[in-house]
Amino acid sequence: MTVRVRFAPSPTGFLHIGGARTALYSSIFAKKNKGTFVLRVEDTDLERSKKEYEDSQIEDLKWLGIEYDEGPDRPGECGPYRQSERIELYKKYATQLVDQGLAFPCFCTDEELDAKRKKAEEEKRAPHYDGTCRDLDPEVAKARIEKGDKFTIRFKVPKKTITVNDLIRGEVTFPDDMVGDFVILRSNGLPVYNFCCVIDDWLMKMTHVIRAEDHLPNTMRQVMIYEALEAELPQFAHVSLLVGHDRAKLSKRHGATSVTMFREQGYLPEAMVNYLSLLGWSHPDEKDVFTREELLLHFDLKRLGKAAATFDMVKLGYINGQHLKNLSSKEILSKIDSFLPKDTAFKNQEPSWKEEFVDLFKEKVDTLEGFGPFIEDIFNSELRDDEDLKEVLSWETTPKIKEYLINKVDEAKKEGLLFLTPELIDEYLTTLKKEHKIKGKNLFKGTRAVLTGRAEGPDLKRFVALTPLEVISSRLQKIDA
Ligand code: GLU
Repeated sequence: MTVRVRFAPSPTGFLHIGGARTALYSSIFAKKNKGTFVLRVEDTDLERSKKEYEDSQIEDLKWLGIEYDEGPDRPGECGPYRQSERIELYKKYATQLVDQGLAFPCFCTDEELDAKRKKAEEEKRAPHYDGTCRDLDPEVAKARIEKGDKFTIRFKVPKKTITVNDLIRGEVTFPDDMVGDFVILRSNGLPVYNFCCVIDDWLMKMTHVIRAEDHLPNTMRQVMIYEALEAELPQFAHVSLLVGHDRAKLSKRHGATSVTMFREQGYLPEAMVNYLSLLGWSHPDEKDVFTREELLLHFDLKRLGKAAATFDMVKLGYINGQHLKNLSSKEILSKIDSFLPKDTAFKNQEPSWKEEFVDLFKEKVDTLEGFGPFIEDIFNSELRDDEDLKEVLSWETTPKIKEYLINKVDEAKKEGLLFLTPELIDEYLTTLKKEHKIKGKNLFKGTRAVLTGRAEGPDLKRFVALTPLEVISSRLQKIDA
């Protein structure tokens, strides 16, 4: 048996990270089993589905490196892969179920159904369909259809418990009164999700259906449809829900939730894949940071947990930072441009300057966007209102350092230098120590304060050597020491 797994997003928005996780698990599972991974676009909600969303979801999947073998843009033998192009198939099977007495046309109007639902609620009964059209004489029903009466097709829900054997959750049993006869085809001829999903998973020969836990009640309905069609059931694996720190289901109010947003904030695809994989799965050696290859090697549905997974931005940032550090400065430079402030100060620098910049700061950032503030630190000579800086500037040794460095910087400028070098800074520190008798903390913190306008920062010599002399000289003028 060839393993076939699908990811079936609805193109009604950007790719949600929960969806991306499902896609990732499904694609790895297919790959590990030398199977086929299929992308199926579930666009039967014509009002909310948009081609732009389909395109952007596909782009995000590609960005994440999640490749599918069959899909709307990858023809295969089970196509078409867009549900809107398969409507006739759903009609055919809905009609077949009606003919077999396993489904029926329902002529109840929305108003009637609403009134019945309200009454059931008032009487504290489950608001299930009351069966008005269930046993209509087929001839009567046929005549009404020919007359042009509007109708939906409802599935005849059998009175029996349904058990789902889930690869992650084990046996999940639903009592026999969970749902009433439900609609499978709307009056406009369009199928509902639970119906077209089964028809497609069946005809597309899916062996495994991996999706989030909140689909379990759908699975119960879907199992009934499989049984009515006498179709073989796929194996189900319902992965845990994603929640925020408040344990509520992850939503927009928790911050960025779409892959596009993370991409725009400068997260790396390999880090996203790493982090997404950990939302419900764990590495056998408890590792948090690993490559895609390692994930592929160790991934196993058996290691998926049942408990809800908390989406943790801090951990994602940490993992992204780790992947960033593993890249060479040249690789980072090739990705960084769109994440930096629009000013040209950075863009105009020499390639060697840019490499040194990335090399110095990559230890300190979590995302590509994180480099931006350091550019500001280098090129903006304005001083910050910072208590620690004021403290260093108030030391009695600092004005001496300032005076000495003003002279040195003037000298360097006269010599035509555009930047100081680490060697020159070493020379200044030695002179300040030997001739001006300034030592230790006073020497190092004082020099840093007057040259960089900061009380703290990265390696002093490298940082100063990256700062244009013009900026240093204008900063020195502003230093109040
Ligand atoms: N279109 C459904 C969704 O996006 C698919 C669920 C499933 O995988 O069956 O939630």
